[in-house]
Amino acid sequence: MVRVALLGSTGSIGRQTLEVIRALRPRFEVLALAAGSNLDLLVEQIREFQPVVVSVGTAEAAGRLRHREVIWGERGLAQIAALPEADIIVNGLVGAIGLAPTLAALEAGKRLCLANKESLVIGGHLVRRALASGGELIPIDSEHSAIFQLLEGRERGEIERIILTASGGALRDRPLEELERVTPEEVLQHPNWRMGPRITVDSATLANKGFEVIEAHWLFGLEYDQIEALLHPQSVVHGLVQFVDGSLSAGLSSPDMRLSIQYALTYPERLRNSYPRLELVGRELAFAAIDPRRYPAFEIVVEAGRLGGTMPAAINAADEVLVSRFLRGEIPFTTIAAGLKLALERHSPAPEPDLEAIMEADRWGRRLAEEIS
Ligand code: MG
Repeated sequence: MVRVALLGSTGSIGRQTLEVIRALRPRFEVLALAAGSNLDLLVEQIREFQPVVVSVGTAEAAGRLRHREVIWGERGLAQIAALPEADIIVNGLVGAIGLAPTLAALEAGKRLCLANKESLVIGGHLVRRALASGGELIPIDSEHSAIFQLLEGRERGEIERIILTASGGALRDRPLEELERVTPEEVLQHPNWRMGPRITVDSATLANKGFEVIEAHWLFGLEYDQIEALLHPQSVVHGLVQFVDGSLSAGLSSPDMRLSIQYALTYPERLRNSYPRLELVGRELAFAAIDPRRYPAFEIVVEAGRLGGTMPAAINAADEVLVSRFLRGEIPFTTIAAGLKLALERHSPAPEPDLEAIMEADRWGRRLAEEIS
């Protein structure tokens, strides 16, 4: 039996992970769940999956939960990430808070199924260092899962470049001059994927794809010049690898996160499931270059990755705040990219930061983004 500890169980990735585990029982079982403040859903999940340990956001929330073993806060997350009885840790947390549990899981030698982008975006060098202690890192992000699958059995030297695809988000066909006036409701209508609110907005600015380029840089050990991104409105091809002999392989599937979640859990095995299959007949696949006028945030975020050090942490934090301010109706959609540009210009990145320096850059980015009007 494979025992799974799930961080972020009430979020979008967490809920889909539990769907996958529900179908894989009794071979996979839930050992621990960690959630923030959505206690109603957590209570339901506890009832169904009977975890041994549960962690919540605060001591106050822990007091309201009736369960044998309840822990809380960042310490609770780190504890669950390194539980001796856990075989697999799924990190479905959103935000910088996911980095410390990622490091804890790898240092404890676990298989870490990683959906928390920030771990690699803000602390990629720390994650690589932690990996040296023997853990195993399997990506859940759909593009990276596709590329991970294409690269199995290949040497780094055989790869010329990889291509991540982007749907282009909810606004890809809107006239440019209307972008300033779009509402949160319009942006949250993602054409292809079901995801949490921040990543849905990040998909519309393409900041998400910039973060995924940084993720790929650390995951696959590739130079930034070897990582490209293309618009692909159908979200059927998730990633491509071009090898040094010019051969190009593509990873295709329905846009369904449960596929990459399942693969991360069962790797290197493939287990039968009943999720919808991709119908190829009559399907057209289109690819286009990313227009920097429509998606200025993409290049800004990639540039933050190239500059490295604390720059991605500052940009990521600024983006998180700008996105939530947009969702609250405080700033126009186009101010998200403008704010990221300002953060890129103003932050002086410190090289090879430790966790504390990363969190300091995170706070800096947040403060800056709160002040932008
Ligand atoms: Mg993705």
